[in-house]
Amino acid sequence: MLSEGKNCSLRPRASLLKSGRGYGEPAGSITLRNQRGSCIIRVATCSTQRTPTQEKSYVTHAVHTGSPDLHSTLQDAYRAFQAKGLKLNLTRGKPSPAQLDLSAELLSLPGRTGAYAEDATDCRNYGGLQGLAEARRLFSGILGAPPEQVVVANNSSLALMHDTVVYSLLKGTCDSALPWSRQGEIAFLCPVPGYDRHFKICADYGIRMIPVALRENGPDMDEVESLVAQDSSIKGMWCVPKYSNPTGAVYSDAVIERLAAMKTAAPDFRLYWDNAYAVHHLTEERIAIANILELSERHGHPNRPLIFASTSKITLAGAGLALFASSKENVKWLLARFTPRTIGPDKINQLRHVLFLKDEEGILRLMDEHRSLLAPKFQAVLEVFASKLAHVADLSWTRPKGGYFISLDVPKGCARRVVALAKQAGIELTPAGATHPHGNDPEDRTIRIAPTFPDLSEVAQAAEGVAICVLLADAEKLPAHISRTRASAEAVAGHGSDAGRLRPAEPA
Ligand code: PMP
Repeated sequence: MLSEGKNCSLRPRASLLKSGRGYGEPAGSITLRNQRGSCIIRVATCSTQRTPTQEKSYVTHAVHTGSPDLHSTLQDAYRAFQAKGLKLNLTRGKPSPAQLDLSAELLSLPGRTGAYAEDATDCRNYGGLQGLAEARRLFSGILGAPPEQVVVANNSSLALMHDTVVYSLLKGTCDSALPWSRQGEIAFLCPVPGYDRHFKICADYGIRMIPVALRENGPDMDEVESLVAQDSSIKGMWCVPKYSNPTGAVYSDAVIERLAAMKTAAPDFRLYWDNAYAVHHLTEERIAIANILELSERHGHPNRPLIFASTSKITLAGAGLALFASSKENVKWLLARFTPRTIGPDKINQLRHVLFLKDEEGILRLMDEHRSLLAPKFQAVLEVFASKLAHVADLSWTRPKGGYFISLDVPKGCARRVVALAKQAGIELTPAGATHPHGNDPEDRTIRIAPTFPDLSEVAQAAEGVAICVLLADAEKLPAHISRTRASAEAVAGHGSDAGRLRPAEPA
C-alpha cells in the first residue's frame, strides 16, 4: 500500500520546501517504500520549477533499488481504493447544491405583484428583444460595454454562441460578403487545452478546427498572428480569456492587445470571447483583464469581438441569464437575427436577477460566498497532487486563481489509461481527449479535473484515487525489466516531451 507516514517516505514537496532550496535548484532525493518498509525506488536530484499557476516537477535521475516491484505495490494501492466501492464524479463543472442555495431567494422573486420593470414594462408580456435596461446596466461593467451595447437573453451563453455561429453560417456577419457557408471551407482557431463544447459546435457544423497552444498568459500569439494573416478561411477563434476552461489561464494585457490589433485575411473574422468566468475568483485577488472591445475599436476592428458571459455559475446554472456584448453594429445584427426567432426573452427572470443581485457590488459579494465554498475543494485537490504526484517525471498540474477546473497533464500516453482506471475505481473523469478538437489529444496527457460539485470530503477522496491511478498508469508504462529487476533509470530534465520520462540506463 502506497501511503504517507511510516510506510512511505514520499513527501518530496514538503522536503523541498523545508530544505529551503529555491525552485529550479537541485533538491536531493526522495524514496518510495512499500508496506514492509523496503525501498522500491529512489529518485535523485529532483529539480522543480514553479510558475505562477503551474506546478511542474522534473525528475532527473531515478534508481530502482531492487526491492519487490513497484507495479504490484501500486496495484495493491489501487485495489484497496477500489474496495472502498466509492461513486465519485469529477466530470462536469457544475455548481454544488450549496452554491445553488446561495441564490434561493430568486425562487420567490419578483412576487405576485412585482412584475413591472423600471420603465413600467409588464415583464409578464411579450417584447423587449434586447433585455431590460436595468438588467443591461447591471452587467455592463462585467462585460466591459455600455448598456446599449449589451443584450440580455435567456438561459445559457453556450446557446447564444451556438446560434451566433449558425447565424454567421446561414446569413453571414455584418462584415461578410457572403454567408460563411457559401465561402468554401471555414475554420476556427482553437486554443488547446480548451472547452469541449466549443469544439462540439465546430464539429457539428463542419468547421475545421486548428489547434493553437494555450500558454499561461493566453494563446501562442506568434502562431495565431501568422495563421490569421495568411488564411482567409479562418473566420473565428474561441477565447476564454479569464480563468480558462480547463487550465485557468488568464490572457495578459499584451496578448489581448495583439488579438485586437492583428491583421486577419478574413474581413469577417470574429473573436468568440467567452468570458464565462469573469467574476469567478478563487483567491482574494479579483483579477481584471484588458477591455477587448475598447482595444479592438482603437485598432480599427470594432466588430471583431463577440463577448459572451452568463449568470449560470453566479446564480442558478439551469435558470440563469445569458449575456452578450459587442459593437453597436454587431448588436443590431444579432437583434435582427433574433427577430424571426422570438418575440422576446424571459423578462421575469431578468427582473428577479436585478432585484436579487442589485448591482455589481452585489454580484461580487455573492461570488465571495461561492469562493468560500469552492476554494477549499480546489485546495484539497492541489494538496493531494502535491503530496502524491510531485515526484512523477513529465507531469504537471495547474493552480488556477479562478474558474471551475484544474488541468492535470499526466505523462505522455497515459491519460486514457488513467481515466479508464479511475472509472473502474468508481471515479468518473471527463473523457481523456475532451480538451482537444475531435477528442484527439495527440499526446494523450491532459485530464480536466472539476472539483466543484462533490462535497469536500468526496473531492479529497477522488483526488487520492486519481493520484493512485496516475502512479499505476505511469508504472505500467515502465519497461518490464525496470519494474521487476534491480536496475537504474535515468531521465533528463524536461517537460512537454519524452525527455522527462524514466528511461532504462546502466544497472545501478
Ligand atoms: N463557457 C465556458 C468556458 C464554460 O466552461 C461553460 C460551462 N462549463 C459555459 C460556457 C456554459 O455556460 P452557460 O451555462 O452560460 O451556457
